[in-house]
Amino acid sequence: MTAARSWLATAQDSPFGVHNLPYGVFTAADRPGQRRIGVRIGDFVLDAGAAARAAGTPSVLLDADSLGPLLAAGRPAWSEIRAGLVEWLTDETYRDTIARLLTPLAEAELHLPFEVADYVDFYASEHHAANLGRMFRPGSEPLTPNWKHLPIGYHGRAGTVVVSGTPVVRPHGQRKAPADAVPSFGPTGRLDIEAEVGFVVGAPSMLGTPVPMADFQEHVFGVCLVNDWSARDIQAWEYVPLGPFLGKSFATSVSPWIVPLEALEHARITPPARDVEPLPYLDDRGGEPWGLDISLEVRLNGYPVSRPPFAAMYWTAAQQLAQMTANGASLRTGDLFASGTVSGPEVESRGALIELTWNGENPVKLPDGTTRTFLENDDEVTITATAPGPDGTVVGFGEVTGRIVP
Ligand code: MN
Repeated sequence: MTAARSWLATAQDSPFGVHNLPYGVFTAADRPGQRRIGVRIGDFVLDAGAAARAAGTPSVLLDADSLGPLLAAGRPAWSEIRAGLVEWLTDETYRDTIARLLTPLAEAELHLPFEVADYVDFYASEHHAANLGRMFRPGSEPLTPNWKHLPIGYHGRAGTVVVSGTPVVRPHGQRKAPADAVPSFGPTGRLDIEAEVGFVVGAPSMLGTPVPMADFQEHVFGVCLVNDWSARDIQAWEYVPLGPFLGKSFATSVSPWIVPLEALEHARITPPARDVEPLPYLDDRGGEPWGLDISLEVRLNGYPVSRPPFAAMYWTAAQQLAQMTANGASLRTGDLFASGTVSGPEVESRGALIELTWNGENPVKLPDGTTRTFLENDDEVTITATAPGPDGTVVGFGEVTGRIVP
């Protein structure tokens, strides 16, 4: 596909050109109280429902205050609507009608764009899993025996998924350092981030019917950025034997823009070679695997501290979807599943402070002269990402930001 050019000049070399067109939900400053589906083009937000009406093809899927109905509609509707948006934003004959429906990004309040149904978090980076294994199980194999046989995950808390910009209140909980005789209760002293990529399920599936990897595109609508805030001291004390719980569930932040899967066609790559043969339902060799060349960047108080490469992930989102439904568990519209912390092989490509500082032993030095082991109050963390688009273009994901408050 040749990248189409928008009549909106400022969008032409933007990571948010017509090759991208991520979806969100916004309120324009001059229309307080009204939530509308917005599509980002350059540094503007297009009122998608109003655009469909202006073009003479009204859509109940776009004239909504949430992405829910659009997500539920399925792949054929997603493709048709995307084609319409591209036409309205590239064909000069629509210019006058559509240009009036653009709101500058700076005048748009962005909301959580869909109701999160179930939230699952995986653990798909071999580098991340091995680093944590080396830290917490020294002397034994870094990876657990199951790690290369199945994508490991846990069910998180859908109701505490929040949109970028929402303050993150430092959680309280039980923690017990190895030297302590008994646990104590109080604010976490080891508040961390996890830079991740999230996948948004649109079309549901039938209870009792697994979803094979080949059906990934029929069910997954698009991709966002996720910060899986983690209280490491609470997590360390509570997680055996049932896994993450209150150390994770206090907040999970997501970016406000959902990049459609179709915008990532040029970012698809073969994932790293697997050195253990997967069982057939997870075997994507010989097929068209869903590795994605997404480059993340983590900034702490404005300073870049890490550049995690999603291309290095061992398990793909299609394998995770197959795993999540292998027992017949059904998908619901609005299910969100996250990749797990994205960490690459180098120190500066690790997606969590616990790895960047090696469990607090090597503090990160910031250019302002301060150091961090874990997050302090008023710290702000921003994760951004880009991926290759058609014809040398770049696909932007926007950002997921959160500031820590006491
Ligand atoms: Mn995580």
